[in-house]
Amino acid sequence: MKKTKETLSTSLSFFTLGHQGLVAWAICTNMPQEEAIGHANAIGPTGISSRWELSEDKFPDGKDNPHDCPDKPGNKHYMLTC
Ligand SMILES: [Zn+2]
Repeated sequence: MKKTKETLSTSLSFFTLGHQGLVAWAICTNMPQEEAIGHANAIGPTGISSRWELSEDKFPDGKDNPHDCPDKPGNKHYMLTC
């Protein structure tokens, strides 16, 4: 996997959209999908045995999962579930 610490430290972007729920978590990030999910599990442990993973559902507003962020070029929105 191609990545450098420099890239991560200078351009890491990771936000929670709305409120983190018990079984669903929407994030806005410019991290690659696998890294974003790994990061989500690192900072937001579920407290149960399952891990956060990409939801198979679309966003509540009908947008695809993931979809491009309308506000931050290069970011994507991911809906995670656990
Ligand atoms: Zn966004």
